[in-house]
Amino acid sequence: MTRGRSLGCGLFLFQWRNVFAHLSVQRRFEKSESHGCTGEGNSLEHLLRLQKLDLEIEECKRREKEIPRQKEKHDLQRKRMAEELEERQAICQRLEVEQRKCYGEIEQQQEQIAKYQQQLNTVKKNEEYQALLNEIETTKRQIGQKEERILTLMEELEEAQERLKADEERIDAAVKRIDAHCEALDEELNAAVEKRKQLEAEAEKAAEAVEPDLLRKYRRIRAANISGPAVVPLDDSNDKDPVCTGCYMHVRPQLVNEILAQEVRSCNHCGRLLYYRDHFEEDNANTAEILR
Ligand SMILES: [Zn+2]
Repeated sequence: MTRGRSLGCGLFLFQWRNVFAHLSVQRRFEKSESHGCTGEGNSLEHLLRLQKLDLEIEECKRREKEIPRQKEKHDLQRKRMAEELEERQAICQRLEVEQRKCYGEIEQQQEQIAKYQQQLNTVKKNEEYQALLNEIETTKRQIGQKEERILTLMEELEEAQERLKADEERIDAAVKRIDAHCEALDEELNAAVEKRKQLEAEAEKAAEAVEPDLLRKYRRIRAANISGPAVVPLDDSNDKDPVCTGCYMHVRPQLVNEILAQEVRSCNHCGRLLYYRDHFEEDNANTAEILR
């Protein structure tokens, strides 16, 4: 059990805040005295810069993956709208075909009536004459029914054509909107690719400034597929033990002391590298901005 813990939480907090105040003053002094500082704190500063770039690269990659998916959704919308139009056009075509069929049948039946009427002049028997008259009557009735059907079809066709026209206008406007959005997405994708390439070049340079052991640790954490940053600040905003802002678990007091002494330590819960927020105010602000 550490001495800090045995003295109780309140005393521990008092202790490490004093340690921090001392270290901060010392660090500021060191910074003003020498620009060639190669301590862990300094390397961590480079690492935070690298992380900022890596997180921006990650965001670019996320957009690079997301944009094609958004475009696929738009393609699907276009396809559905085209199908909708085809369906409307098919309704109109079906009505037109039925209409033409009715006209054709009426024509045939009228020819049939003409034949029956010619036969009326040649038949001799009264029953045959009567039978022909019945046939003429039945055919005329059927023609009447077909003419009524044609009138109904005309109304339905007019309605369907109006609906088709309205749908064509609506879908045309929607497709134009989708096309414009896709164009903007293409531009955004190109910009993301360009930005990522630029950031990757910057990150490569930034990595060279990081102490190799620290860089290996950092890369290992990132390779472990931990979401978000691999280097996170301690959160000491409440009056309890500080927490790791990666996993939000309390960090052991001894570890906190070591971090306050600007040693690079990993969170004992999630393995992320920890640093004290006030040591790297600027970098921390940048990381927070990316994560927002
Ligand atoms: Zn953690």
